[in-house]
Amino acid sequence: MPLDLVPIQRRSLLKAAALTMSTSFASPNRKPHVAVIGAGAFGGWTALHLLRNGATVTLLDTWGPGNSRASSGGETRIIRATYGPRRQYVDMAVRALQLWKENEKRWNCRLFHRTGMLWMAGAADETERASLPLLREAGVEFDELSAAQASKRFPQINFDNVKWAIFEKDTGFLTARRNCQTVLEHFLAEGGEYRETSVTPGALQGREMTAVTLSDGSGLSADQYVFACGPWLGKILPDVIGDLLRPTRQEIFFFGVPAGDLRYSEGQMPTWIDHGQEHLYYGVPGNEWRGFKAGDDTRGVKFDPTNSDRTPSPEAIRNVREHVEFRFPGLKGAPLVEARVCQYENTPDENFIMDRHPGAQNAWLLGGGSGHGYKHGPAVGEMMAAFVLGKKPLDPFFELARFKR
Ligand SMILES: Cc1cc2nc3c(=O)[nH]c(=O)nc-3n(C[C@H](O)[C@H](O)[C@H](O)COP(=O)(O)OP(=O)(O)OC[C@H]3O[C@@H](n4cnc5c(N)ncnc54)[C@H](O)[C@@H]3O)c2cc1C
Repeated sequence: MPLDLVPIQRRSLLKAAALTMSTSFASPNRKPHVAVIGAGAFGGWTALHLLRNGATVTLLDTWGPGNSRASSGGETRIIRATYGPRRQYVDMAVRALQLWKENEKRWNCRLFHRTGMLWMAGAADETERASLPLLREAGVEFDELSAAQASKRFPQINFDNVKWAIFEKDTGFLTARRNCQTVLEHFLAEGGEYRETSVTPGALQGREMTAVTLSDGSGLSADQYVFACGPWLGKILPDVIGDLLRPTRQEIFFFGVPAGDLRYSEGQMPTWIDHGQEHLYYGVPGNEWRGFKAGDDTRGVKFDPTNSDRTPSPEAIRNVREHVEFRFPGLKGAPLVEARVCQYENTPDENFIMDRHPGAQNAWLLGGGSGHGYKHGPAVGEMMAAFVLGKKPLDPFFELARFKR
């Protein structure tokens, strides 16, 4: 019987064997077995990269990749390289885009929509100014547009309050839950194993994590465990992550465009981020025929990803509608056709966590997407797989210890 199917009660007898297995990871002849917990944008891509780098991989998720509670759920996500002074993410976005495209070709399916991405800058434009040299260094193709030039190019947008804009030519949006499902499909086709089950971390013994427990009470023993649990990461690892990760309520809305009017659809309308005022609004055109998507990036109230109510709030609808009507005057009075309530999983500095568990050599922490993680999935997965397999040293920028320095 494979070790991961042995009932938990009998596992104590096998604990020593399991530990020997986990430390025998260094053996050159045996493939390391890695369990990845969480099949969202971060976990799914990590599992795939581990597999492609020679590991035996079991991917586990309570409700499935891109499920309706997950942060990777819903229709679309923006991919852009404008990131202010944060070089790590500029480079990561460039690498991620390359990987999204490579896998599109490899799988012969569409993951990415090249609409271009228009970032509107207001009077306080330090972030945008800081972005320019990094975009150039990373080889990102973009135009720097005055408000007048931008207005000429995109006459359906009202550029009041906008000082200037960056138009990234080769970015746009990604389909979200659909891509997570596609990653799983190909992970399976390439030889990975997937189980729909809820995972409880194993006890720590010495410097090792012992087998994790599954919802049916059985145990799963692997050489390495990667916890990529999105907004649940603090809950599943309260002593290590706990309140460092704060899920917040975020609402997005889809407005119906006038019949036959293509100005707000893919082709004529770019994916956009509006930093023309204090709040940062963002949106995706066409959005796979679901309507004109718009949201406010301001962090909402604390949110429980398992049980919090996901009914859209009238205040948020009013706020986003007001903004849409101001910035896109042709959408005045557009009906709300769909809405979603999701959550960001924020770290204090809004940077990701990619690190080894401080109490276990064989356990890893991955998360803290902080409202901007999706696009980076393939690059995060590539990097995390290299950390886990010992092919790359950890990057202090993503380490947990930064919060204690
Ligand atoms: C409204 C909204 C808009 C966003 N816009 C953008 C954007 O435009 N561009 C961008 O790049 N990013 C954006 N983001 C952020 C991005 O979507 C997230 O950072 C990213 O999806 C996080 O992925 P994840 O894999 O860490 O988490 P998740 O997708 O939540 O995956 C975690 C998975 O772990 C599973 N899990 C949890 N606990 C357990 C357990 N105990 N056992 C087994 N499985 C478990 C869950 O079921 C879940 O599937 C947005 C997020 C939201 C909510």
